[in-house]
Parts: sequence; structure tokens; C-alpha cells
Amino acid sequence: MSWDAIVVGAGHNGLVAAARLGQAGRRVLLLEALEGPGGLLGAPAAGQGAGSGGTGPGVRIAAQPTWLNPIVTMGLGLDRYGLGPGVAQPTRAWGPDGPVTLTAGSALGVAPETAAAYAALHARLRRLAGPLARFMGRTPPPLNGAGAGDLLALALDGLALRRLGRADMRELLRILLSNVWDLLEDSLGDGPLAGALAFDATLGGAMGPRSPGTVLPLLYRLAGAPRGADPEILIGALLKAVAATGGVLRCGAPVARILVGDNDRAEGVQLESGEEFRAPLVLSNLHPRRTLTGLLGVAHLDAEDVRRARLMATRGMAARIDLRLATLPEALPAGTRLVVAPRLGAVEAAFDGAKYGGLPERPVLEAVLVPGAVPRLAVTATFVPHAPAGSWTGKSRGTLETRVVAALDEALPGLRSEVTGIETMTPDDIEARYGLPGGHWHHGEFRTDQMLMLRPFARVARYRLPVAGLYLCGAGSHPGGDITGLPGWNAAGQALKDEGKRR
Ligand SMILES: Cc1cc2nc3c(=O)[nH]c(=O)nc-3n(C[C@H](O)[C@H](O)[C@H](O)COP(=O)(O)OP(=O)(O)OC[C@H]3O[C@@H](n4cnc5c(N)ncnc54)[C@H](O)[C@@H]3O)c2cc1C
Repeated sequence: MSWDAIVVGAGHNGLVAAARLGQAGRRVLLLEALEGPGGLLGAPAAGQGAGSGGTGPGVRIAAQPTWLNPIVTMGLGLDRYGLGPGVAQPTRAWGPDGPVTLTAGSALGVAPETAAAYAALHARLRRLAGPLARFMGRTPPPLNGAGAGDLLALALDGLALRRLGRADMRELLRILLSNVWDLLEDSLGDGPLAGALAFDATLGGAMGPRSPGTVLPLLYRLAGAPRGADPEILIGALLKAVAATGGVLRCGAPVARILVGDNDRAEGVQLESGEEFRAPLVLSNLHPRRTLTGLLGVAHLDAEDVRRARLMATRGMAARIDLRLATLPEALPAGTRLVVAPRLGAVEAAFDGAKYGGLPERPVLEAVLVPGAVPRLAVTATFVPHAPAGSWTGKSRGTLETRVVAALDEALPGLRSEVTGIETMTPDDIEARYGLPGGHWHHGEFRTDQMLMLRPFARVARYRLPVAGLYLCGAGSHPGGDITGLPGWNAAGQALKDEGKRR
């Protein structure tokens, strides 16, 4: 059977792309290597994580997913499939002198002048992030050879920036080029409040708060106005949206090759089993490097593309650790996110170790309770190297787990004695299970030389790949990772636009 389009990978971006193509009347086949959809957001198979507690329920990687961007939820009409507006999730930032509770623009548990400074900073950053939101929901402008449509979009973006006014524009440029440490220290001083914001700015990346360019991820997250999401509801709604347009999902179907015709056009895919499927349009939800040098193959690429794909910065530094608990800790209400990053220096020190392949002495982390018959604490620890001192061993895994539990025990006294089992997914484990080079949160570092019209790199930055009819639609393309659905949405839009031009 032949199809109008094939989407490789049923991560949330693959599902969004399939739904958008289906909405436009295309018959879509979605092929997923694993036994279920959702990618890093999906339910893991039992006992996938390794750890001192042996096999268990498995670790869902994106433990605290942000809500899909409204462009996607409204564009696909996901409210028809049970997707509500999401919930604002308070953050409890632990510090030795007591916690600070943060919700969107307010901080409780700090001096009134610090609370006022935080409210002012939050409002300022939200305002500066406004124009960025315009860039997120569509194909980035080309580096050269802009067409009339591109020029119009660029002009509108320019207008949005101008509306900020001269002082704000100057301030935006200044902070984009500086680092989040300076911004936070200047605005708030040091402590758990600044520590938690520095944690958020560097979450998922391989840059510490003193690294230039770390204000950008914070602005991006604010531009998306993230709210908490229930993974089951989110995936369920996307599956219904795909099915409603006649899309077909096949799991346990790892794609080995993208088929290319003599005319240099994508013609379909071949599974590892040898089975082939044909379609004039192929979208890949996989990491750009795997798509290009793996599934497509270097024979279809210029030497420079191969070099860029291999050199992409994509070494992940986030590990997931699930603690099974005997009882729920009273100090952490359900639905509240705990952040243990008590000072700016704590975040930088954790990064310093990881930079040289060392495990953080005092991990910085976020955690949320997962109630159930066996309650769990889902922890994401950052600045955990992809391969400490060469590779993971039982000993280094045990050291990480001990240090994570020690850090949590300070914030939630008595927690250590409640832990009945641990499951850990290091960046290396994540790479192996999800076929994701480096196990990177964003499918590739999110920094100024890998963003917008440079994401994942200049020659393939607008979703289109060098072979006609072939597109990237995952987090490795603009505007990057987290659970937003925007790369999938934009890529499907671009593919449909190009198809329209051909007809
Ligand atoms: C440790 C960690 C914690 C995170 N926590 C959060 C969080 O709390 N909140 C948040 O918003 N974001 C979080 N993220 C980021 C978020 O999970 C990702 O940005 C997002 O999942 C990317 O979605 P995607 O659809 O582009 O790709 P993915 O979710 O990676 O999906 C890609 C899909 O392709 C499939 N695939 C791979 N190879 C093949 C093949 N050969 N054939 C067919 N299918 C294939 C994979 O199995 C997978 O299903 C986290 C990331 C990490 C690493």
C-alpha cells in the first residue's frame, strides 16, 4: 500500500506532524521503533531503567512535560480530544533557610523587596520574550535568498521588535549576549530563588549559569508560556487527532533506511525487517544526525553536511532517577515541583564537574511526586555527564544515586529511609533506548549557534533536507526541545507549502 506521507518516529512532534498532514487531507503512516508512541514523553516498557533497585515500573523521561504550544493545540483543535488548558505548577525552591515558593510572577518566602524584584524581573523577561514567540511558530527566515513571503514575515518580526521600544531592544540585546548568572545576581541577589531560575535556564543543556547565551533558553521558555501537562491526556489527544484524519500508527517498526529515487527525491522507507513503504513525502522525528548520516546515508549528502551533522553539539547532561517510596513525603505537596539548587554557585559547581566528565558532588535537580499504589518521586538531575570518565559502571551509577538521595534528604528530611528502590536512566541509557545521539534533552544543544536559521545547522535549518520530499520534524529542528509540538507543526506546514508549489 502506498501513502501520501510517512512520519518516522511517533514522539509528540511526530504525532503533531502526522495530525497536521492528516488535517490537510493526506493519508499518513506513522512508524515508531518502540512498543508505544510518545517518545521521551511516552510510557516506558517495564524495567527499562537500570538501577540499584532492580527492575521496576520503568522511567518516563519527560517527567514534567510542559503543555503544547497554543498554536498547536488550537491548530489541531485538541480540545475536541480531551485536552484542557493545562495547569500552572508551583515551584518550591529549597534553601537551607527555608523554601521559596514560585508561581508565574510571584515569590513567597522571601523578603518583600526580593519578592518585588522578582515580580519586576518576571514581567520584564515576559515582555522581552514576546517577540520571540513570533519566531517559534513558523519556519525560520532563510540566511540568504529570501522570497517575498519571507521578507514580509521578517518585516513583521522587525515591527514586533520595534514595538518593544528603544530601551527594551537595547536591554534584550544586552542580556542575550550576557549570561543568566549576571542577570539574576544583578536583579535578585543570590539564594534559592536565583538558584531555581538558573536551574531552569540551564535545564537540559550543557552550559552553566556563567556561560554566555544562557538567558536565551529562559526567554524561550517564558515565550512559550509553559503550563504543566498530564502526559497520558496529551498523548491520548494527539493519537485521537491522528486517527480522526485516517492516520495509521504502527509501533515496533524501526525504520532502517529512507528510500531515495533516481531523481533524488524521497520515495519511502525500509524497516529493519526489510519491509518497504512508499510515499512522496517523508518526515523524520529522529535526531538530525541519525536522520542524515544514518537513515538517509552519506551518499546523499555533501561533505560539509556530513561534517556538520557529525559535529553537532549534542552531548546530553540530564539523567532521570525514579525513587520508589514507602510513604509520600509530607513536605512536598502533590502537583508542586521541588527544585534543589540553593544558590547560583551550586548550579555552576555541578556544571564544572560535568564539563570534565565528573559526577556532581552535590547534584542540582528537580523532583515531582507521582502518586499511585507505589508512590514515586520522579527526579531529573542535571549536569550528569553522558559518560563519566569514559563510561558508566555499576559504581558510578551507585555514586550518582547516593548523591541524589543525599541532596533530596536535605530538602525532604527523612526521605532517605523511605526509599525502597531506584531506577536510573543516564544520558547514555537514554541514547541507547530512544536512538537519540548524546541522549540530549533538545536533540542537540540549544545555543546561539544552533538556533533559528542555524538549527540544527545552516544548510538544513528550514526543515527541508538535501533530498526533495524529506523533512526534519523533531526537537533537533527549530524551535527545539521541551514538549511544545512546534517543530512537528512547522515542519508539516513547510512540507505542505512546498508540495503546493510543486503542483
Ligand atoms: C532526561 C530528560 C528529561 C526531560 N524532561 C522534560 C520535562 O520534564 N518536560 C519537558 O517539557 N521536556 C522534557 N524533556 C525534553 C523532551 O522530552 C524532548 O524535548 C521531547 O520529547 C522531544 O520530542 P520529539 O517528539 O521531538 O522526540 P522524541 O520524544 O525523542 O521522539 C522520537 C521518537 O522517534 C523514535 N525512533 C527513534 N529511532 C527510530 C527509528 N529508527 N524508527 C522509528 N522510530 C524511531 C523514538 O523511539 C521516539 O519515539 C526531557 C528530556 C530528557 C532527555
